[in-house]
Amino acid sequence: MSWERQVSIKSKDEIAIMREAGIINAEALKAASEVCVPGATTWDVNAAADRVLDHYKVTSPFKGVPGPIPFPASTCVSVNDVLVHGIPSKKIVLHEGDIVSVDCGTTYKGFVADSAFTIGVGKVSEEAQKLMEVTENSLYIGIEKMVPGNYTGDVSAAIQEYVESHGFYVTKQYTGHGVGRRMWEAPQVPNYGTKGQGIRLRPGITIAIEPMVLVGTDATQVHQDGWAVSSADLSLTAHFEHSIAVTEEGPVILTLLENGEPPVSVTGRKKL
Ligand code: MG
Ligand code: MG
Repeated sequence: MSWERQVSIKSKDEIAIMREAGIINAEALKAASEVCVPGATTWDVNAAADRVLDHYKVTSPFKGVPGPIPFPASTCVSVNDVLVHGIPSKKIVLHEGDIVSVDCGTTYKGFVADSAFTIGVGKVSEEAQKLMEVTENSLYIGIEKMVPGNYTGDVSAAIQEYVESHGFYVTKQYTGHGVGRRMWEAPQVPNYGTKGQGIRLRPGITIAIEPMVLVGTDATQVHQDGWAVSSADLSLTAHFEHSIAVTEEGPVILTLLENGEPPVSVTGRKKL
């Protein structure tokens, strides 16, 4: 199958470099999360991540991604109905009750880490909290399926089944993806699918899994800036993402902090 041949297999040494990239990325996300407070702007959130990337003298592969305008920042900061690709802005102020997702990439020694979280600003509604928790849980449920011999469809189906069982929707338009020397590699891993279909997972495959979940619809709309993507009905949305390596020993999450904790957890997850 041609897709199978396009999937690049990473060596243990390459995966070790990707883990280092993932630690830096996790530190940047943790710093960004600490700025998600009432009165801060999405620009401030991006600046916090940038300070960490600058400290390590690394860059984000997000900067300059071609589009209507080249993507101008290291992170996407997406508030409430904005599902993904929000451009950080001094004009977008965070308010109590908002939910914010931050997606960050790091390129380190030629390899990419890609990860995202969603967090509440102050106290959020019950629905917003449930949305974030379901989205975070769906990510880890998908990751558990990333064992050699399983198929990408097993990951996709597990995410979809869990999200829909809680009454929410997954987007059909944006997907998880292989990650490595480039931010987007084969295979695509949608957040919906059929068990036993797709690419067979084997050790050395590295994939960014990223459930993007919407409260009221699976339809989306792109903003006038050509980047930000909202739910079509402007209902709340959430997004969690990790970069993962499939190994003989099972899935290894590359984008955790050095101590093995996720940079952000709305469910109180610690060591994984
Ligand atoms: Mg991402
Ligand atoms: Mg991604």
